Amino acid sequence: MEKKLASRKSDRSEVRGETEDFRDHLATADKEGRRKWVYPRKPRGRYYRARIWLTWVLLTIMFAGPFIKINGNPLLMINVVERKFSVFGVIFWPQDNLVFALGFLLFLMGIAVFTAAFGRLWCGYACPQTVLMEMVFRRIEYWIEGDAPAQKKLDHAPWTASKVGKKLFKHGIFLGLSFIIGNTLLAYIIGIDALKDLITDDPRRHLAGLGFMGLFTLLFYGIFARFREQACTFICPYGRLQATLLDENSIVVGYDYKRGEMRGKLQRAETAAARSARGAGDCIDCFQCVSVCPTGIDIRNGTQMECVNCTACIDVCDEVMDKIGRRRGLIRYASLNGIEKGEPLRVTPRLVGYGVILLCLGLGLLALLVTRSPVDTTLLRAPGALFQKAPEGRISNLYLLKLTNKTHHQMPVQLKLENVDGRLTVLGGQLDLPAERQTEASVLVEIAPEHLRSGTTPIVVGVYAGGKRLNQVKTVFVGPRK
Ligand code: SF4
Ligand code: SF4
Repeated sequence: MEKKLASRKSDRSEVRGETEDFRDHLATADKEGRRKWVYPRKPRGRYYRARIWLTWVLLTIMFAGPFIKINGNPLLMINVVERKFSVFGVIFWPQDNLVFALGFLLFLMGIAVFTAAFGRLWCGYACPQTVLMEMVFRRIEYWIEGDAPAQKKLDHAPWTASKVGKKLFKHGIFLGLSFIIGNTLLAYIIGIDALKDLITDDPRRHLAGLGFMGLFTLLFYGIFARFREQACTFICPYGRLQATLLDENSIVVGYDYKRGEMRGKLQRAETAAARSARGAGDCIDCFQCVSVCPTGIDIRNGTQMECVNCTACIDVCDEVMDKIGRRRGLIRYASLNGIEKGEPLRVTPRLVGYGVILLCLGLGLLALLVTRSPVDTTLLRAPGALFQKAPEGRISNLYLLKLTNKTHHQMPVQLKLENVDGRLTVLGGQLDLPAERQTEASVLVEIAPEHLRSGTTPIVVGVYAGGKRLNQVKTVFVGPRK
């Protein structure tokens, strides 16, 4: 696929009579490999306005998320420390490994299908990195330092009181915001209640937690104040997957080179007809699309790994087209086939194949969730314990029982030997499982020798609550050789 895209890009370059040397270097690095700071112009236009509205919605969800509880559990919690996970208020445990594995496969497959169909729509509209960088931190920067030329001028100006004031103000806000974002991430990891304890309790009891709080704050500050677009181009693996996931029918932010080339400056008082007559395309080579790009690329060179589909170049080019009286959409959402052959967007066999796999995985996950037992049981023979012989002749084995109550309520459970005549006793009495907790107990199983095989006998233990069997576990009972 990459070859196919590359050859089309070569076609386009031939149209322009240009080389593809832009592929040999990063737009954000100079010849010596030093970073070139990107000063993107402030975007404006219909897509940007839509992204502002969406940003409000996404930020509300992101920051409110840790406070929302369903059945007393967080909406989303990934507590790797206690190995406890909550998704839409349902608690999952490490024992739900099949659910996790299938969920992860579904997530990866979902990414593949979505990307094959819609390109990097996620990056442009919903990725937290883009949303926070372009719609929050960047907008604060525009507000304090002005648009790109003013920022550049300020950076190159001597350190006056005004410059120091502006920089301190900006970085103070950046640090404060990074603190809030870091704490939000922490709340998603350990839960909002644990975060409240961390903040209100004696700091000496939470040194590790407070350390992470500081670390996350500095990390986010570093990303949004300095690292910026490099997080997308150097770190994020998703951008690098584009070459394998995109095909010529995927929707991308694309430049219509058939319409735009041969590009050339607009001559004074030149009419559209006169421009066409001299073989010039619609692109007036104004570089506005490059000047607004937060990753510093020229979309006219074709689909590039650095493009995060932020749509700023679409908006600005539409504005240029309006001004010169040409049709909007020289840069637009389109597939390569759409631009090259005028083909409408279509569902390809690859997309259907992905979709079928996605559906199967989704159904599998649904079946797992529906049949998921509310109690997880592990029954293992006590390590190092041999069988015992009671005076009346019965043989006994000692087991360690681990029960995980995944429900939101306390649950009294009973155990029964299912396949052999015998007696099962929970040492310590009735098992009353607290909600969303693990309980451990010792269990003694006694079986008369006539019901045993020589050596080991497989046994099945059922776990019951309210007369209903919740699950069964198999283990072995060790007795004398006959
Ligand atoms: S903004 Fe449009 S017209 Fe201007 S250089 Fe870019 S593609 Fe060409
Ligand atoms: S090329 Fe256009 S859509 Fe892609 S990152 Fe740059 S401005 Fe955004």
